Amino acid sequence: MAKHVVVLGAGVVGLTTAWYLRADGHQVTVIERNDDVASETSFANGGQLSYSYVAPLAGPGVLSKLPKWLLKRDSPIHFRPGVDLQQWNWVMRFVRACTHRQSEESTRRLLSLSFFSRDLMDELLAREPDLNFDHANAGKLVVHRTGASFDAARRLLDYQRSLGCEQEALDVDACVAREPALAHLADRLRGGIFTSGEDSGDCYRFCVGLMRSLRKRSVAFRFGTTVTRLRRSFGRRAVALVGNEDIDADHIVIATGASSVPLLGTLGIRVPLYPLKGYSLTAPIDAGAVAPRISITDYERKMVYARLGDRLRIAGMADINGRRADLNPRRVATLRAAAAAMFPGAADFDRAVAWCGLRPATPKGLPIIDRTSFDNLWLNIGHGALGFTLALASGRLIGDLVSSRRPAVSIGGFGLADT
Ligand SMILES: Cc1cc2nc3c(=O)[nH]c(=O)nc-3n(C[C@H](O)[C@H](O)[C@H](O)COP(=O)(O)OP(=O)(O)OC[C@H]3O[C@@H](n4cnc5c(N)ncnc54)[C@H](O)[C@@H]3O)c2cc1C
Repeated sequence: MAKHVVVLGAGVVGLTTAWYLRADGHQVTVIERNDDVASETSFANGGQLSYSYVAPLAGPGVLSKLPKWLLKRDSPIHFRPGVDLQQWNWVMRFVRACTHRQSEESTRRLLSLSFFSRDLMDELLAREPDLNFDHANAGKLVVHRTGASFDAARRLLDYQRSLGCEQEALDVDACVAREPALAHLADRLRGGIFTSGEDSGDCYRFCVGLMRSLRKRSVAFRFGTTVTRLRRSFGRRAVALVGNEDIDADHIVIATGASSVPLLGTLGIRVPLYPLKGYSLTAPIDAGAVAPRISITDYERKMVYARLGDRLRIAGMADINGRRADLNPRRVATLRAAAAAMFPGAADFDRAVAWCGLRPATPKGLPIIDRTSFDNLWLNIGHGALGFTLALASGRLIGDLVSSRRPAVSIGGFGLADT
């Protein structure tokens, strides 16, 4: 039976959720505190639809790197301990998740979501051919600068294949043949892993396109509207409040990204989300410049490069140092210098626009797609570094759950109790 469902948050996760709820015939309202869609973490992310590269940050090799993260300010991951109890709680849970077993289990679960997302993206693009978001299906090449890391990546190929990822190891000449913009780096590379099934696109434009399609399908948007708190209603039901106004809905889906912690806290629901701050640059590509055509990941520097039409998007870094999305000029300078060295002359890095956003990360790297202890309150949060990649699948799963349908893929591991 059709219900009125309110989705809180118009980032990529909220919009895909609205899409599948509407497809099921529900009446849908999206509430967003900003005046536009995708104004926060979904705005200028790395642009990778990274269906095969989903391994969580929490992995067995991480603990030995912690001292470097603490001490070196220009390391790709930076941890500054504070007096924030939530930060410590998150870090302890993260450390506990850094085992082989957990990392493999999370990877397996994330792959089931990401592969499903890829199918849903194909379906969506066939249905909405005008969804203009500089989408490209050119594949991704992860380049390695040391023999040790390339050997380790090659050893992983068989395991990745057993999980359904189609990848090939390339020597340096083959890397350059795939991506001529790497030619000048040839003597510093040791090889790369190419995955043909990886896509890229502009997440903000994707969201704008989706909003237009949703509006045509009578989905209502309330922008500039902050949900100030949630409160308990009759029995086991929750109500959202905008100031003194009760938002009347049969169901409420929380898709408020990194801000979900304080919002859910108003109902006493605790979620282990911590914002991992990341940075991006978007630089115009000069006419005739030798810029990368395929997505490139610089494995050692943990930076990704995506071509978005006539722009180059560069993204990276994870700072575990607080909840504010403020640009640190030092981090921006590090990113800019690394990008200019990687692809000199590919784009106008002086005119690059810098941005940062807060990845809503869970300790194990798995999103939370679940009902709360309130009958009508659902969570679609915690997509960390993979929100663009996973949004369609997790939106569809919330659609299944709200419509009391058997989920299209297993939701095991994505419960609040599993975090
Ligand atoms: C540097 C960087 C690079 C990244 N690269 C990639 C990538 O290449 N590929 C990939 O898949 N993912 C990537 N990600 C991750 C991805 O961007 C996020 O996982 C995703 O954007 C999260 O989407 P969301 O909708 O959950 O959150 P958001 O986009 O933050 O949306 C939440 C929305 O809720 C609204 N909101 C919050 N609280 C309230 C309230 N109380 N009332 C009303 N509205 C509210 C906010 O204004 C916001 O618009 C990257 C992230 C960063 C930071």
